[in-house]
Amino acid sequence: MKAKQEIKYHLSVLGCQMNKSDGERIRSVLDELSFKETKSKDDADLLIYVACSVRQSAMDKIYGQSAQWGKLREQGKIKTILTGCLTSLDQEKIDDRFDLVLPISDLMNWPSKIIGLFETVEKTPHKRDQSNPKTQNYLSLQSKHSSAFSAYVPIMTGCNNFCSYCVVPYTRGRELSRPAEEIISEIKGLIQKGYKEITLIGQNVNSYDGGVGFPKLLEMVNAIDGDFWIKFVSSHPKDASDNLIDTICKSEKACEYFHIAVQSGNDDILHKMNRKYTVESYKKLVSDIRSKIKKARKGVYKNAMISTDFIVGFPGETEDQFQDTAKLMKEIKFDMGYISRYSSRPGTVAEKLNDNVSPEEKQRREHILLDILRATALENNQVYLDKEIRILVEGKAKLKNEYVGKTRTFKNVSFVCDKNLIGQFVKIKITKAGIWGLNGKLIA
Ligand code: SF4
Repeated sequence: MKAKQEIKYHLSVLGCQMNKSDGERIRSVLDELSFKETKSKDDADLLIYVACSVRQSAMDKIYGQSAQWGKLREQGKIKTILTGCLTSLDQEKIDDRFDLVLPISDLMNWPSKIIGLFETVEKTPHKRDQSNPKTQNYLSLQSKHSSAFSAYVPIMTGCNNFCSYCVVPYTRGRELSRPAEEIISEIKGLIQKGYKEITLIGQNVNSYDGGVGFPKLLEMVNAIDGDFWIKFVSSHPKDASDNLIDTICKSEKACEYFHIAVQSGNDDILHKMNRKYTVESYKKLVSDIRSKIKKARKGVYKNAMISTDFIVGFPGETEDQFQDTAKLMKEIKFDMGYISRYSSRPGTVAEKLNDNVSPEEKQRREHILLDILRATALENNQVYLDKEIRILVEGKAKLKNEYVGKTRTFKNVSFVCDKNLIGQFVKIKITKAGIWGLNGKLIA
């Protein structure tokens, strides 16, 4: 039997920022146990997968990889844990390949279960954990942040919206918010350590309710002393209130970056998706954001960055209904859009609908939207040409001496420099605007 300090673990995280943030909390729990992280699965004693049932491809990936370690597991040379966003149907298909299937919401109780895996000499019997996820708020556990200057801070988890295509309300359960004081205290600690960017995350941050609403929480974060930016994802259009937009306008640390998923440009499809807003109300929301930000900010920041999500080929989506989406996309001129081809997820309401748009047609619709996005993203990026702008340097690019960073508005910027400026704010003069990013010259 190995000493705890000799046990190496490998963590694979699939899915969204929320899962990545969960991965950071898992790391800190394993650190407490003195386990060591390894980047290679080959020298790991423990493999942990944070799964994502939102996309079938993520589940297929885990299923494929699990076939590789079967023999080692049988010989007791490796232990495996599965967690994350899983529907019970997905879980049933895969859980015999794992020693433990643990709800992430029960992370506080993981240590004894993990130690149990390594203490037993005999093969640990398979165990699906039945703890009640609602009894504890695992988000209060400290994260081991993977970046030293930019942190995701979860403010809530779960979702009450039940969009007809989405598994999140089933996998993460109902909305659960962290108390505001706990969030503020974590952020103060991060700012004292020199963090420059705080991204508040949750499935639907707009419906945050930790004793105060989301606008008030933003105000409280903005009031923390220090030179840092505040971003947040994800927002549901139906919950983006005037009060929220006004608060962002008044909060100088809150960035002009809005990710608001529209999903479709046709009201009947939005109704079938159970999205609870209309195309008109979405357009009004974007127009309000743009006009209020224009008044509140200076220079290039007068242009709010609007990004979105689309699903193409939702069951029954006709050509005309798809054209409504294309029309909306041209009209709004999004800066960025994440386009998914619809795929049915087990246990959702949409699973019962006839998935009658062929894969080829979904691909065609995706390409049409991508072409529109390329044109509007380029047009929006050209506004930055010749402007001097502050960016946060995030890392090295592929070329020698080339670095990449982001603007407040989530635009990628590349520049050349012979000093390592990662984690710092610098000033850049933009010299070139491309579709997916900007290039510039370091000024200061
Ligand atoms: Fe899923 Fe809809 Fe909730 Fe987003 S708002 S997590 S799409 S159910």
